[in-house]
Amino acid sequence: MPQMFPNDLLCRSILFPKSWPNDVFDIEALLRLDSVDKNVHALSVASRYLLETVDGAHKYGCRAAVAGNKRLEEKNQRPPAPVAEAIHYLGFYDMRYGAVTDISLNYYEIQIRWRFENGEDAHFQIELHPKSGDSTERQRKAERAAARALLATCLAGPYRHICACDEAFRQDLETIEMTEFAFEQLGMI
Ligand SMILES: [Zn+2]
Repeated sequence: MPQMFPNDLLCRSILFPKSWPNDVFDIEALLRLDSVDKNVHALSVASRYLLETVDGAHKYGCRAAVAGNKRLEEKNQRPPAPVAEAIHYLGFYDMRYGAVTDISLNYYEIQIRWRFENGEDAHFQIELHPKSGDSTERQRKAERAAARALLATCLAGPYRHICACDEAFRQDLETIEMTEFAFEQLGMI
């Protein structure tokens, strides 16, 4: 696995409309930890070092949107309608590796693992693994919510982007609001 250092950056792609559950940007939705097996929850991110440039990070996000739209098209047997149904890549947030690994939780251990996926070798997962010892599902669920709030303090951005494939919808996409974060917010909570 590629080694990472505290000041290395991980990026989280912003895919519209996934993080807009009620038509309003929701950081909790962006940082949702999906269940990957019975016990482990994970958030997909990518290594900025392996993606090399800001443009590389944007291309990575664009590929995720294209793949998502392909799945929608297969499911619905027609291409998704732009803006109304389709997934659009709008940019990314950075997260500092060291800030994520500094998060300490009672019931979970945070691990950042390299997970080759969909041909993407820059893909990593921020994973929550239950610590040994007793904890109830209720306690773990509450702590997963707390973990999302702590992960939000690790963010900087957004670094916005409109893909060439989305040029026709620029006006609609550029005006979509997202919350701003800066690394200075670290340590505020
Ligand atoms: Zn694109």
